[in-house]
Amino acid sequence: MTSKLTGTVAIVTGASSGIGYATALELAAQGASVALLARRQDRLEALVAEIEKAGGAALAVPADITDRAQAETAVTTTVEHFGRLDILVNNAGLMILGNFADADVDDFDRMIAINQQGLLYMTKAALPHLHQAAEQGPRDVADIVNISSIAGRVSWAGFGAYNMTKFGVNGFTEALRQEVTQSHVRVGVIEPGAVDTELQSHNTEEIQSGLAAFPSDKEMLTPEDIADGVGYMVTRCRRASISELWIMPTDQA
Ligand code: NDP
Repeated sequence: MTSKLTGTVAIVTGASSGIGYATALELAAQGASVALLARRQDRLEALVAEIEKAGGAALAVPADITDRAQAETAVTTTVEHFGRLDILVNNAGLMILGNFADADVDDFDRMIAINQQGLLYMTKAALPHLHQAAEQGPRDVADIVNISSIAGRVSWAGFGAYNMTKFGVNGFTEALRQEVTQSHVRVGVIEPGAVDTELQSHNTEEIQSGLAAFPSDKEMLTPEDIADGVGYMVTRCRRASISELWIMPTDQA
């Protein structure tokens, strides 16, 4: 059966859990061959098996995207294996919250390395292949989707360094969109509100139950809700570029 993404190849970073895991499943279900990037290889192998069982194609590409050489090699490995690259989903991320005065400077470095540097390394390495895909079909268009956050547009006390990384992602996304859109490489950003994933687990118990807490009587988004947004963006017809999707839990004001 031919689906909208049949014949295309996608890379999803942070595919070992949460939004990235769900996005890989979504793109594979729509017909893309998917390269799965993250550090936890066992989880990537399990996802490859799940995608293949459903009739799709996937490749585990273990990589730490904060290491420029590993990011570049991951892109090369993907293109060598699948022959092309049509879609890059920059999803890998880290959120460590807390008041700036009490924060560990190493956490700033880790967030900047993953949320910003890794995203830049992946995008730089992927871009020539995306240009080629846009020229060669089958869709005559290619896509970059950056997973930012509502924290990329709104600031709150305790979110400062994370806010900075995500505001940066939003700024970069729009600048790159303007540079490459006329070559039919679409660049867009998704800004999710609260999604039920492992993201908060890197924070202290105090932060998890305080600053980062979501009311227990309210319903968070699921990773599949964001994957659905990615799927929507990359399956628009060639003339339509979705540059921004703001996805909130209905229960979150
Ligand atoms: P998870 O913690 O579940 O997923 C984060 C993913 O990033 C994991 O697969 C992790 O894999 C990967 N990752 C982390 N560091 C690296 C690295 N150095 N190299 C490669 N991969 C890495 O969280 P989410 O699914 O929630 O987060 C996905 C994105 O969504 C993030 O950018 C986050 O900021 C954003 N977001 C999330 C929201 C939420 O409420 N959950 C809301 C708004 C935005 P591994 O550890 O195996 O390397």
